[in-house]
Amino acid sequence: MDLAETRSLLQKRLAQVEARLASACVRAGRERAQVTLVAVTKTVSAEIARLLPELGLLDLGENRPQELWRKAAALPATIRWHMVGHLQRNKAEATLPLVELIHAVDSERLLRALDEEAARQKRVVKVLLEVNVSGEGSKHGFTPDDAGRLPPMLASCRHVHALGLMTMAPLQPPEQCRPVFAALRTLRDQLRPQLAAPHTMGHLSMGMSNDFEVAVEEGATLVRLGTVLFEGIVS
Ligand SMILES: *Cc1c(COP(=O)(O)O)cnc(C)c1O
Repeated sequence: MDLAETRSLLQKRLAQVEARLASACVRAGRERAQVTLVAVTKTVSAEIARLLPELGLLDLGENRPQELWRKAAALPATIRWHMVGHLQRNKAEATLPLVELIHAVDSERLLRALDEEAARQKRVVKVLLEVNVSGEGSKHGFTPDDAGRLPPMLASCRHVHALGLMTMAPLQPPEQCRPVFAALRTLRDQLRPQLAAPHTMGHLSMGMSNDFEVAVEEGATLVRLGTVLFEGIVS
């Protein structure tokens, strides 16, 4: 497959995903504009990722910091980079200047490290807190039982702005993921009134290729899609 063929395949895939997103929004009585599609480019090269802004996709995600750094250096500065995977504290310094949003802040230690590093760099870092709703699969993340300690924890952070929550559903048939997504929404609705600016806590990053339509029906504002866009595309 040459680059032109890859481009037209991606265009077709994107149109299919857009149609599915639009239907899910209609079913949920939501506006399409309330959901941001983040294309997770971890399986493709920078050369292929570079086709995405031409197709109108400016929100791109990576799950490993080194790969995000590499692609950010190779792609236009107009890209909004989303760090969707686990971030080690020693990678914060180099990552902060490059990212629009860090999706998976999974511990108080990381939250505090990001707050300190952002203060040092005199910038603000927008984050989501990862919640391990199902208690299985990923070991990372806060649990719903942490809900009580999150508001005071965030209140003491000035450079980290918590924009919402993120979760990874276990790999299951999509309908079985619905309770996980609904629980994340409930947790957000519970936390939001307890937080003051700059912590807006409005966003829900949930839904991947396997389950994004159900996630949108349950209120996702960011869906993170890789396979459904890039399957079979070899860099
Ligand atoms: C890879 C990845 C995705 C995309 O997953 P697909 O199932 O390929 O759509 C989403 N979120 C995170 C954190 C990922 O690592």
